[in-house]
Amino acid sequence: MAAVLLARGGGAAARALTFWCLRQLHTVYQTVELPETHQMLCQTCRDFAEKELVPIAAQLDKEHRFPAEQVKKMGALGLLAMDVPEEYKGAGLDYLAYSIAVEEISRGCASTGVVMSVNNSLYLGPILKFGSEEQKHQWIAPFASGDKIGCFALSEPGNGSDAGAASTVARLDGNEWVLNGTKAWITNAWDASAVVVFATTDKSQKHKGISAFLVPMPTPGLSLGKKEDKLGIRASSTANLIFEDCRIPKANLLGQQGMGFKIAMQTLDSGRIGIASQALGIAQGALDCAVDYAEKRLAFGSPISKLQAIQFKLADMALALEGARLLTWRAAMLKDNGKSYTKEAAMAKLAASEAATTISHQAIQILGGMGYVTEMPAERHYRDARITEIYEGTSEIQRLVIAGQLLKEYRG
Ligand SMILES: Cc1cc2nc3c(=O)[nH]c(=O)nc-3n(C[C@H](O)[C@H](O)[C@H](O)COP(=O)(O)OP(=O)(O)OC[C@H]3O[C@@H](n4cnc5c(N)ncnc54)[C@H](O)[C@@H]3O)c2cc1C
Repeated sequence: MAAVLLARGGGAAARALTFWCLRQLHTVYQTVELPETHQMLCQTCRDFAEKELVPIAAQLDKEHRFPAEQVKKMGALGLLAMDVPEEYKGAGLDYLAYSIAVEEISRGCASTGVVMSVNNSLYLGPILKFGSEEQKHQWIAPFASGDKIGCFALSEPGNGSDAGAASTVARLDGNEWVLNGTKAWITNAWDASAVVVFATTDKSQKHKGISAFLVPMPTPGLSLGKKEDKLGIRASSTANLIFEDCRIPKANLLGQQGMGFKIAMQTLDSGRIGIASQALGIAQGALDCAVDYAEKRLAFGSPISKLQAIQFKLADMALALEGARLLTWRAAMLKDNGKSYTKEAAMAKLAASEAATTISHQAIQILGGMGYVTEMPAERHYRDARITEIYEGTSEIQRLVIAGQLLKEYRG
């Protein structure tokens, strides 16, 4: 129908119809198709974000301040270990629930969203999947309550996208591993009590010689670099981790020796659903702000929301957001159903991060001058959105992942 209207030159009507359809679809997803638990969770997270995060997000951003109190409250709500079974003190929910929660939290504060995403996906995720029973009890439960948070250290100053080229090394010395090297850009670094770190145990095996380790923080031989002064997500800490003859027990190897690259890649598949959800929250926040402003701002005698140029922008923003949300939920549901989701998670992250960048850019345009100052959240959304196209695999890397999986499917 929309295509027919477009073909007949009815561009405005087609866009309005598309916009209307998307709103209906959104309503259906919110009220009918999501299971009741997920709807309740969504409302709980939305209320939490409105009450606890929205009022302070600008200040946290300005002061580069970690939201310690809010993170503790999120732990009490079960938001820091969402798909972890209850026996390890998690919420025992699924990845769809996790995606919905990260979106709602990020809508209130994108920094808090990444703190949550890193703890759930990047720190707890690999321990839950590859850890021994003993490791799960030791390294998960204290990180589910909000008392402690974890981090994930794969990137290095010399390699980010090319993760297999890790130069951090681990050598076995009696009953201990000795780690040396520097990990770069580590989210939560200054606030974390443990890290899942990747280091080469056999250089001759290249990426198959990488292993994963659990390291408590602080620990002798591990120091933190300076807190990075970032464009966005400024309330989350980002810093180097420097390992200098850092000794950890032999039992802190996660999974088997040489499994590190596989652990990292599988962890990032899940992590991308978290970052896609963070991007959705930022995009939704930007759209909310733009609609609200457009309805109130008068120009030439009426609200600017009556101008077709503004309506077209809003329709395109909603379209990009809803498409990305459906891709993200699909990836989460595939994971929940034990199906392969590498391609879908990459598609979700790519679509959601590019949507967040575009939507937050257009939101500033709709706000005009008010979009450019810190009095309104639009400029923060714009700064926060940008990182979602970079971490846990840049947009270029997502395209490589998608193409790789696609070609594999075609070739059979
Ligand atoms: C705020 C922040 C938080 C982060 N948090 C973490 C964290 O918690 N843990 C962690 O381990 N890392 C983290 N990172 C690191 C992040 O994952 C890397 O920055 C990212 O993977 C890109 O790596 P790079 O910066 O080395 O860029 P490079 O790999 O040097 O890439 C530079 C450019 O080249 C492009 N490029 C590279 N290879 C290819 C290719 N094969 N084909 C096409 N284009 C290519 C890239 O897309 C990019 O545009 C974080 C980074 C930031 C900025």
